[in-house]
Amino acid sequence: MLFLSAVRPFTKDLEDIREAGLWRELRSWYHSNGKIQAAESDQSLWNFAANDYLGLSHDESLRAAFQEGLQRYGHGSGASRLVSGSSPAHRQLEEAIAGHKKKQSSLLFSTGFAVAMGIIPALLTKTDFVVLDKLIHACLIDAARLSGATIRVFPHNNVPKLRKILASIRATHGSSPRILIVTESVFSMDGDLAPLAELVQAKEEFEALLLVDEAHGYGVLGATGGGLAEACGLQDRIDLHMGTLSKAAGLAGGFIAANSEIIQLLINRARSFIYSTAPPPALAFAASHAVAIIRSEKGHELREKLAANIQLFDDGSQHKSAIFPHIIGDNEAALNASSRLREQGFLVPAIRYPTVPRNTARLRISLSATHPAEAILSLRSQIQALPR
Ligand SMILES: *Cc1c(COP(=O)(O)O)cnc(C)c1O
Repeated sequence: MLFLSAVRPFTKDLEDIREAGLWRELRSWYHSNGKIQAAESDQSLWNFAANDYLGLSHDESLRAAFQEGLQRYGHGSGASRLVSGSSPAHRQLEEAIAGHKKKQSSLLFSTGFAVAMGIIPALLTKTDFVVLDKLIHACLIDAARLSGATIRVFPHNNVPKLRKILASIRATHGSSPRILIVTESVFSMDGDLAPLAELVQAKEEFEALLLVDEAHGYGVLGATGGGLAEACGLQDRIDLHMGTLSKAAGLAGGFIAANSEIIQLLINRARSFIYSTAPPPALAFAASHAVAIIRSEKGHELREKLAANIQLFDDGSQHKSAIFPHIIGDNEAALNASSRLREQGFLVPAIRYPTVPRNTARLRISLSATHPAEAILSLRSQIQALPR
């Protein structure tokens, strides 16, 4: 028998993406002092597209710490943590994070994405349940799917609906399945906050576990930058604190903080931890320094500066995070608005499906402590002048 097995061409897939207004492409950028310049252009732009909330991605003392880490511990770890890649720099960072998060223990992963992919499948099996906020980040959706547990979704920040789901699981399946509730503290594309106190109450009542992804809360919220959980005084009542070192901490890497038993389980079971080479020890050393900056007086001053910038951009509102969505709806219109702002000297990304729900394409403005007031006020007036 003869099979004519030509590979189904990708041209059609690409055309479909273009036609839907969902085309994405890579650009290269040079960064300097809060400004950004496309490699192919000589126009320098104010960067309102980064998650560099405290400006630490270009902090001099953090750079010096990275260099010191290189001298002391080197750049390549050579193997996964469990084989021979574990350095004192990794341990020290994990102790610093656990201390900051007021949990017994913590574990470092190469990225926040890898944290999600590692932990949910490690904690749950197919007889368990994972209950997701509707607007949760892609990595947590993928991880929930990978776990094989039954997935339930509650409307964004809707605790009464979440309670109904929890009650029905317990009514039907009794007390034996694990239930993991997953939310973000600061939602990445809307900048709003999860009702943590109510979530904690619900999870305690129904004996569920609660995972809070503080990707956009860590470093930004709380008296010492510990995140929304710290700001609400709920650190010890949340089972799993997830975070990333790639946003306010200005570096790269992801972490989970929890009790020692959970961390031991993850060391034994989380596949994205076990089967992945340890992050560069120098990076871990620098990250300990980033945690120290976040907790320090300097971190406090940067948060005050950021809060002042948030006030300036959003005059009088109660907005608590550095992320502002400007919802436009249509994909092309959002792209046009973004390129118009670019002509005015601002880099503000258009965010489209599937990053946000269909027909809610938007500009996503993220503020940093390092943005000067003039840039913020000027961006604000440019956005107000956009065609409606
Ligand atoms: C960025 C982000 C992640 C992934 O973190 P990385 O360290 O960039 O991989 C996870 N969750 C949320 C909500 C994020 O915004």
